[in-house]
Amino acid sequence: MNVTRKNVRAKAKGRLNKCNILLIEGKKALAKMTTILLKEALDCDVTLAHTYQQAKEMLDSSGDDFFMAISNLNLPDAKHGEIIDLLIEHQQSVVAITDLFNHEVHEELRQKGIIDYVLKENIHAYEYLVKLVKRLYANQFVKVMVVDDSPADKKMTGNYLKRQFLKVIYAKNGEEALIRLHAQPDIKLILVDAELPIVDGLTFTARVREFRDQNSLSIVGMSGAGITDISSQFLKHGASDYISKPFSYDELTCRVNQNLNMLSYIDEVYKVAHMDFLTALPNRRYFFDRGEILVENAIKNKKHLVVAMLDIDFFKTINDTYGHDYGDDVLKELAAVIKTTLAGHLVARLGGEEFGFIVDTNSPSASRALLDQLMQNINALRIPFESETVKVAASIGATDEIQGDLDETLKIADNHLYLAKNNGRNKIVWDHAKAIVSS
Ligand code: GH3
Ligand code: MG
Ligand code: MG
Ligand code: MG
Repeated sequence: MNVTRKNVRAKAKGRLNKCNILLIEGKKALAKMTTILLKEALDCDVTLAHTYQQAKEMLDSSGDDFFMAISNLNLPDAKHGEIIDLLIEHQQSVVAITDLFNHEVHEELRQKGIIDYVLKENIHAYEYLVKLVKRLYANQFVKVMVVDDSPADKKMTGNYLKRQFLKVIYAKNGEEALIRLHAQPDIKLILVDAELPIVDGLTFTARVREFRDQNSLSIVGMSGAGITDISSQFLKHGASDYISKPFSYDELTCRVNQNLNMLSYIDEVYKVAHMDFLTALPNRRYFFDRGEILVENAIKNKKHLVVAMLDIDFFKTINDTYGHDYGDDVLKELAAVIKTTLAGHLVARLGGEEFGFIVDTNSPSASRALLDQLMQNINALRIPFESETVKVAASIGATDEIQGDLDETLKIADNHLYLAKNNGRNKIVWDHAKAIVSS
């Protein structure tokens, strides 16, 4: 059947980055509501089918285009879950929606390899569904490592994880796992068996914690050997969680998702704590966190780097003339210009109408050209106020004499900024000759 060939192609391509969901729901109002919820939560396309027949036609013509399928088990022309077999035959990843909980039906669905099922009666069903799809979509980019010396356990755990769209990496002992983790530091979660040759699970966990904390990497211990206190031992060695073997698909999925959700929350909190609310640029804290490392590296490797400070000219007058809200708009517009012009470099709002940059090009001339370009772009900016268009200007102090640490280097840039302000503003002042570059 050409469908099979198509799906082989889909697997070879990897999952689809664009989230296109096939939703099969006989009740039109429900289909509409689900579509709205999915689109609100995710940047995804939803293709609707109301009957088994419609779904079949869609799958026959575009079988490999769907990220996943969500289907009601009871359709007007196929009332007993026949749709699941059709979807599985087309190698679709399926979440089933069902009217009633029936243990046997549930077990049968699991055996067929569906991702999950959602009970329609539950008032939180659609909230759960949307969260699940969001998690699955994010999972495509998440690497998980399974460390187990039992080939059968390793394969089963790996297959469960792949069903959740996770990228799976394997290792058969702690030593191999350490090598893999060093080579792939973007691994987010590790499932590690306690009993392993060469380096066992507890030792492995403790070693990983010497260089990776719980905020960026979850470790879930596993054991089937009935060792006393193994779960608390794992936690004391630095594991984030524990699951005893053998486990079901549901048990593993809940445990893994809980840990991954926790990491996502930590990421979000980190972002909020390091972002400026008004301009959505990184804030002062982020600038110093990241900037310190860049400066340290530049000193160590004698690398060219530019540290610069920008301050808007006569910003108080802008506020006094056009109002504080307009001043806020100016800050946002200017931040957007900075972000696009200096894309790929470290930029931050240091506070008030002051911004900091670390420009990381290969050459002093390229850095100068980039900051000149920024000045031109700022001078070209026109921010309307009623019938007027208002111009904004800014002064920049810059240095590539990286010394001491970021704080010290920033002071040099600040001195240059002071010179720019005292020499007529709307200028960049650099090192040495203090050559003033007018814009
Ligand atoms: P100079 O060219 O010497 O830098 O003059 P200036 O007017 O820009 O500098 P000054 O330090 O006198 O004024 C800075 C003003 O920036 C005062 C303050 O009210 C305003 N400001 C600081 N943060 C914000 C903000 O978040 N929003 C708005 N609208 N104004 C802000
Ligand atoms: Mg083992
Ligand atoms: Mg200022
Ligand atoms: Mg100012």
